[in-house]
Amino acid sequence: MKYFSLNENAPDVSFRDAVVNGIAPDRGLYFPESISPLAKEFIDNIENYSNNEIAYEVIKQFIGDEIPEQDLKEIIEETLCFDFPIVPIEENIGSLELFHGPTMAFKDVGGRFMARCLGYFNKKEKNDKDITVLVATSGDTGGAVASGFLGVEGVKVVILYPSGKVSNVQEKQLTTLGQNITALEVEGAFDDCQDMVKTAFLDPSLAPYRNLTSANSINVARWLPQAFYFFFAYKQLKDKSKDLVFSVPSGNFGNICAGMIGQKLGLPIKTFVTGTNVNKVVPTYLETGEYEPKPTIQTISNAMDVGAPSNFIRIEKLHDFDINKLRKNLKGYSYTDDEATRAMGYLYQKFNYVAEPHGAIGYLALKNYLKTTKNTQGLFLETAHPVKFMDVLFEGVAETIALPDQIKAVIDKPKVSIKISDYEGLTDFLKS
Ligand SMILES: *Cc1c(COP(=O)(O)O)cnc(C)c1O
Repeated sequence: MKYFSLNENAPDVSFRDAVVNGIAPDRGLYFPESISPLAKEFIDNIENYSNNEIAYEVIKQFIGDEIPEQDLKEIIEETLCFDFPIVPIEENIGSLELFHGPTMAFKDVGGRFMARCLGYFNKKEKNDKDITVLVATSGDTGGAVASGFLGVEGVKVVILYPSGKVSNVQEKQLTTLGQNITALEVEGAFDDCQDMVKTAFLDPSLAPYRNLTSANSINVARWLPQAFYFFFAYKQLKDKSKDLVFSVPSGNFGNICAGMIGQKLGLPIKTFVTGTNVNKVVPTYLETGEYEPKPTIQTISNAMDVGAPSNFIRIEKLHDFDINKLRKNLKGYSYTDDEATRAMGYLYQKFNYVAEPHGAIGYLALKNYLKTTKNTQGLFLETAHPVKFMDVLFEGVAETIALPDQIKAVIDKPKVSIKISDYEGLTDFLKS
C-alpha cells in the first residue's frame, strides 16, 4: 500500500517508509492511497470471526505485501492480548472499555502494533543504526509506547512529557521501565512537547546521530489499528437493527479518525459524536466554520489537553474537506471540568459505574446527541482505567478502586527522568 502526504509536497511512500518516517518531509501526515470496503458478507457475519481474524481483515490492505501473512498474524496476536468488553449502562447506552491492556489505556493497541511492525522491519533489514522513537505525551501515550517497545531490539524510545501535568500513575508508567526507554521531563505544556518532536524530525543536524521516528497517532502504524475495536464492538452488539453511534472523547482526534476508517471499510456506523474538554477547537469549528487552533488549557482530562489536534486533517480528508459532509457525520460537544466531575458522580451514584474524566465526557456527549434521535444504540469509549486518574475522580470513588496488577508493578518504583526546558535541551540529549 502506498501512502501520500496530506501536504501534497512529498513523494509517496510504502507502509514501511510511512512507519519509519513517521511524518512526511513536507511535515504532512501520511494517508493511505486507497481504502477499499470489506466484503459485506464479512461484516454481516462478524460474530463468526475471532478478534484476531477481524483485525487481520481490517489491517491487511493497509500493509499490502510488506509484511508476510504469517508475520502479520503474529503481530496481531501479540498486540491483542486483552479484551474489549461492552458494559451496558442504561437503555441504549453502553461503555466500550478499551483499558484492559498492559498500561490500561486504549493506546496499548496502537503502541503494541507499531512496536512490532518496527521490530519486524528492523530485524528483516538488519540495520546497523538503531531507530529512535521520539514521542510526545499528554499522559497516556508515553506509557503505552514505552510498554509496547520495552526490550524491542534495535529500537530506542525517548518520551517527552509536560512536567507536573500528567497523573502520578501515568508518570510512573513512563519513568520506571529503564532498558531502551528514556523519559524527558519538559518544563512546558503538551503542545510544547509536540512542537519539539515535530521540529526534531525535520532537523538535519540530528540526522548523523539518530534515525528518528514518531509513535504519536500521526504514525500510521499507531493510528490505523485503532479501527479494530470499533469492529470488536459491532461484533458484540446483540441487537444490530438500531442505528449505531460511537461517542469518542477526543484530543488529537486519532482514535475517532480510526473509527471513521472503520466506517469507510463498511461498518454500519450512523454518526460519530465527539466530546472534548474546554480545548474545543473541533466542536467550535463544527458550530462556526472557523478552525482556530489555540494554546492548550490544562484540565482534569489531561490526555485530551490538545489545542491543535494533529489528526483533524485526516478527518477532513475523509470528508473531502467539505464541512457540510463532516457536520452530517460528526457531532461535537465540549465540557468543563465541573461537568465532567458531575457526570462521574452521576454514573457512579445512579449506575454504580466508575468512569474517569475522559470516558465521562464521552458519556455526556453521547447523552446530548441521543436527545435528538430515536432507535439508536450509543456506545461511548472508556479510554483509560479510572486508576490512572485517582486524584480527579468523583469524591469518595478513588477509595473503592483496587490497584490492578499492571499498576502495582510500577507504582513503588523510583521515577527516573531527565529535565529539559527547551529545544536545545532535546537536541543536546539526542546528540549525546
Ligand atoms: C489519548 C487519549 C484520548 C484522546 O485520544 P485522541 O486519539 O488523541 O483523540 C482520550 N482519552 C484518553 C484516556 C487518552 O489517553
